[in-house]
Amino acid sequence: MECREALEQEVKRHRCWKSKSVKKMNFDNIETSTSIQYVLESYTEARSVSEATEAANFSGLEEPSCSMMSSLSPWDFEVIPSQNFVDQVRIFEMPGSSQVNPCSACNSVGTIHCFNCRGYGTDKCSFCRGTGMKSGVAHPAVYTHPMIATFPHADISRGYSSSSTAMVRHGGSGSGSNTYGIGTPMHFMSKTGVPPPGIGTHDLCYMCHGRGIKECHQCKGGGKKPCTSCSGTGSIKNYTRIKVYFKNSRSEHYTTCEVPEKLLLGAEGKLIFDEEADYVAPISKYPQEDVNKISRQFCEQHLQKCMGVCRVIRQRHCINAIPIGKVHFTLGNEKGVFYVYGNQKLCYFPHFPSKCVIL
Ligand SMILES: [Zn+2]
Ligand SMILES: [Zn+2]
Ligand SMILES: [Zn+2]
Repeated sequence: MECREALEQEVKRHRCWKSKSVKKMNFDNIETSTSIQYVLESYTEARSVSEATEAANFSGLEEPSCSMMSSLSPWDFEVIPSQNFVDQVRIFEMPGSSQVNPCSACNSVGTIHCFNCRGYGTDKCSFCRGTGMKSGVAHPAVYTHPMIATFPHADISRGYSSSSTAMVRHGGSGSGSNTYGIGTPMHFMSKTGVPPPGIGTHDLCYMCHGRGIKECHQCKGGGKKPCTSCSGTGSIKNYTRIKVYFKNSRSEHYTTCEVPEKLLLGAEGKLIFDEEADYVAPISKYPQEDVNKISRQFCEQHLQKCMGVCRVIRQRHCINAIPIGKVHFTLGNEKGVFYVYGNQKLCYFPHFPSKCVIL
């Protein structure tokens, strides 16, 4: 009866089978058996160390010590996984291994030169491409104006080059109001005290107000950027980083039966034995000798695989009995067999009735 239900379920999974055929099918004989599944799991731990560097964080700093470093082993600290038999990696700083050193990238200053603006803090205004003019407004002839031409600039040919803008700076770096691009309306005004002829405030680029420059976006106008190596603190911390790898190794075996092992992997059975310990002893008293044998073999393999690589934290093993029913059936003139296996009553047809030949 159960076999028929299982079969009806199976038929629903295969669209080309006819459920009417199942009703016409006669079950001549059902042989029951079990496949014994044995599973061994070893939860292991491996550790590695590496030298690491990060910005010194003075607020949470431990007392600097280096004398202990050589005497410490990565195994001197207890690390507990959040859950046994689940793969995970934990990373932490080896206590007592940190040393604070001056940052070599910035010579302990905490800032580095901004190469984008060459330390000036200003960049060409991207809105007006450095002209200082609103788009569509004719650019005043600043260079050739008689009042400007009398103030020759050494580097005037570089004005409005594609990559950079020649600038006139007064009073050091920074985007102070005295800096402007050469040839801009601001250039004219600073030399003559009046706006270029025919140009009003409304004709100027409203982003840079006629100066043709903007604050350097990389250093925010300061000409220096915080050092990335030390996060601006001027010091870096060298320490030993411990990485802990928790890994679960699993081996399983099924005693020989007529259902292929790859199908049994999905089958549920009845748990008849399970045990968990730091080290489990191989099963030796199971009535089926091959179960004892495979348990011994797995236990040995797991320990051998670990040797010199990791250590076993915990082991567990279990025995499951997976029920299997071999059903001999008659359908019309045809005779055949199929299997019902697992608690879920899965079906397996050794000679798959393809293209509706049988059913
Ligand atoms: Zn630095
Ligand atoms: Zn800059
Ligand atoms: Zn502009």
